[in-house]
Parts: sequence; C-alpha cells; structure tokens
Amino acid sequence: MKIAIIGGGICGLTTAFYLKRFAPASSITVFETENSFGGKLKTVHKYGFSIEIGANGFSEKDAECVQLFKDAGLEQLAMPSLEKSKTKYFFDRGVLYTLPSTLRELLQTKAIGNISKARLLMNFILPKKTDSDETLQRFCARRIGTNGANIFCDLAATATFASTADKLSVKAAFGEIVNIEKTKGGFLKNIFSAIGINGAKIGFKNGVSSFVDGLSASFAFTKKLGTEVVKVKKIGSKWLVESTNGATEEFDKVILSTPSYVSSRLLKEEDELLSELLKNIEYSPLAIVALGYEELNHPMEGYGIITTKRSGTQALGIIWDSSIFEEYAQNSTKLLRVIIGGQRSPLLALKEEDELLRIATGAISETMGVYEEPMLNHITRWHKAIPNYGLGHSELVKQIFERVSKNSGLYLNSSAFKGISLNDCVKNSRETALKIISE
Ligand SMILES: Cc1cc2nc3c(=O)[nH]c(=O)nc-3n(C[C@H](O)[C@H](O)[C@H](O)COP(=O)(O)OP(=O)(O)OC[C@H]3O[C@@H](n4cnc5c(N)ncnc54)[C@H](O)[C@@H]3O)c2cc1C
Repeated sequence: MKIAIIGGGICGLTTAFYLKRFAPASSITVFETENSFGGKLKTVHKYGFSIEIGANGFSEKDAECVQLFKDAGLEQLAMPSLEKSKTKYFFDRGVLYTLPSTLRELLQTKAIGNISKARLLMNFILPKKTDSDETLQRFCARRIGTNGANIFCDLAATATFASTADKLSVKAAFGEIVNIEKTKGGFLKNIFSAIGINGAKIGFKNGVSSFVDGLSASFAFTKKLGTEVVKVKKIGSKWLVESTNGATEEFDKVILSTPSYVSSRLLKEEDELLSELLKNIEYSPLAIVALGYEELNHPMEGYGIITTKRSGTQALGIIWDSSIFEEYAQNSTKLLRVIIGGQRSPLLALKEEDELLRIATGAISETMGVYEEPMLNHITRWHKAIPNYGLGHSELVKQIFERVSKNSGLYLNSSAFKGISLNDCVKNSRETALKIISE
C-alpha cells in the first residue's frame, strides 16, 4: 500500500510513524514545504539559549505523548520540568497572584472577594448538564458566576488556545470539563487539571527539534522536504499528489496533515463542498518574543505569568523558560518568552519587530517590575498559529468528516479538528493510522 502524507508537523510525522509500525510493508511518503519536519515544533539555538518557537513540552499526565517516546525508543530525550516551575502566576488589574491549583487555594486567593467565592461554591448545588453548545464564558458564568469566569476561565482560554472565553466552544475546546460536569456533578475541583494549567511538564532534551529529528529517524519512510503540495486529485482508484515543481505521483491513500485552510486549497478542485467547509475554521495569530538576560533582578521562581483580558496588559503571558527547563539557558543567564496577540488582540501579533519588542519589554516591566536590557531577542510571528474552536466547531467537524468519508482513500488529521495539544495530536494520529490499516 502506497500512502502519501501532506504536512510533516507532529500530526503528519506521528501518523507516518504509527502507520509504519502497524503496517510495516506499506510505503509512506511525507511531503513537507519546509526544509525540516516539525511544523510548529522547532528549537533555535542562539548564544547559549535554546528558544522554542512553539510548544515547549506536554503535561506529565499526557499518556499518548509518553507512549510515543517509548514506542520510538526516544525516552532518553524526555526531560522533566524543574520543581519550582509547578508554581504559576496570573496578573489581574495590576496585581500578581499565585494561580490556585486546589479548591482550598482557590478559596484563599485574594483575587476575588467573599461574595464571588460563595458564588463559586454554588457550583456544587447547581443543576448539571446542557447538551447545547455554549461558549466557555457562558458555561463558566453559569457554574461559578461572572467574576470567577472573568478570571479563571479567561486564564484557561488564554493559556491553552491563546483565545478568550467568549470565543471558544466549551464542548469543542474543553470537552473534558463538560464531561466532568455531566458525570461528577461539578468541575471546580477539576478545572485546573482539566485545562492543563497546573502540574509538571515534560520537555525535550536539546529542545523539541531533537525529538522531531529522533522521531523522523526512528522509522523508514520517503522524506520529501522542501516540497509544497498544491493539489490532490482522485484519478480512478488512485490519488494524485501534485507539487509546486509540477511533479505528480500516485498513491493508494492520502492523508492531509496540513492546517485546515491549506487542506481547503488542496481539495478545491476535487471536492468543492469539503473545501468550503474547511475554510470555516478560524486561526489565531501569535507573536513569540524570546528575551535572554545576562543578569536579571528577578528570581523567576515559577512557570511564568498569564494575564487576564481585563488586566489590559498587551501580552497574553510570559513563560519563564529557564526556570522550567534548566538547560534552556547557560550558567546564571535567564530566558523568557512573551506571548502576544491571539484572539484577545490579533493585530498586535502582526506588528513590526521593533514594536513587538517594545510591547514585550513593557509587559515585563508591568508584570515583573524588570527594566534590564536583554542581551538577546528572537521574534517569531505566526499569522495563523492556533485553530480557534469557536461555537459550532463540533458540528462543523462532524460535517467535515462525513464529507471526507465520501472520498474513499482520503483522510484528514491535524490540530484543526479534535484537539490542539501535542497529546491530542499524537492520539488522533495513532487513531488515524489504526483506521487506515483496518479498512
Ligand atoms: C506558540 C505555540 C505554543 C504551543 N505550545 C504548546 C505546548 O507547550 N504544549 C502543547 O501540547 N501544545 C502546544 N501548542 C500546540 C501544538 O504545538 C500544535 O497544535 C501542534 O504542533 C500542531 O501540529 P500539526 O501537525 O497539526 O500542525 P503544524 O505543526 O502546523 O504542521 C503542519 C505542517 O504542514 C506543512 N505544510 C503546510 N502546507 C503544506 C503544503 N502545501 N505542502 C506540504 N506541507 C505543507 C507545514 O509546513 C507544517 O510543517 C503550541 C502551539 C503554538 C503555536
């Protein structure tokens, strides 16, 4: 069986890996526009700093990622986060607070008053469950009141999707919380673990690129790097894959692991309806400003800071990378990354580099009281960084996959549909591989 995978991000690579494992005789080709695999996963090494331009790790509870490390024989690349990074902070209306990780801590926080706390506790007696789609904001306001929602659910939306609670579907983006409400009668106790804000992380020794390289070297497949696919077309029982250089090749099956707006373009001639449906998934832009300091008058004892929307801060958050993984900075130097844009302020992410630098250093001064000059900066701009699972996303995905099933030999698997975390990407990739070999 000859299989083409378009897109060599974590979804494309992991699907290829498990396909080869489940069907060793299959011949797999991965087409990737860039000259290296990884997509949103890439490490830049500069002046002794290791800078992630996207993801830096996954939660220690993410079983699918842990299993992939084992399956690929890459356990030696897993790197636990430092103990001190378990503490996280949030910035709300000019004040820095420790992010509570238990109900007890939540009730002790000074971020909300007693009336809001009493409203939080009403969660335990309120009637459960709604099957209709609603925003994360509405869901949280219904369960814990507006004030609690404006802080804690806003932080969850920011930390996970770089979005805002009123622009996310709770069902599509936080299905786990909806299930907790249905089955356990309350989500308060579980909210922080369910949204993945708390707990230890597992990162990658020498950065995420070393993991991507290790994964792509761990099994046999044809690597078509620097090859942008422009069209996929069904000819008889075969799929024709056409690249920008005009080259075409026939396959028995084709998997699109590209962002949904790219998949839409690739399928325009083959299935116009599917192409149109795929256009409806919106993406949020992001800018990541990494700053390295020779000396910094701040202990950075923790994971970093998330800001609330109502704080009015121009950054969504600051990740204290050298406090999470020691090897990200050498000796006593410090590395942090300021995250800008998202659904909260999309236009900011697309500003010129000088302006982004000004916003980043301004946010550090405002939230950390730091005014030192960085010795290094590295700026990454993603025009379309993270899919935003808005209201109606689950229904849209259902329609997309119903339509895909009418195209025999075609599969879609990327973060656009059923989860954006690395763990969801790995889970969905493994499931896609299993589906293909079982047909
Ligand atoms: C800034 C940032 C930080 C994040 N942090 C975390 C984190 O800490 N933990 C976590 O669990 N998740 C994190 N995520 C989410 C996670 O990293 C992504 O959801 C995931 O990496 C997306 O993988 P993907 O394979 O779906 O897409 P991508 O990584 O976008 O891969 C798609 C690939 O397709 C290629 N491609 C596109 N068009 C074509 C074409 N026409 N022909 C050939 N190839 C093409 C692209 O070049 C790319 O390599 C983060 C995301 C971002 C943006």
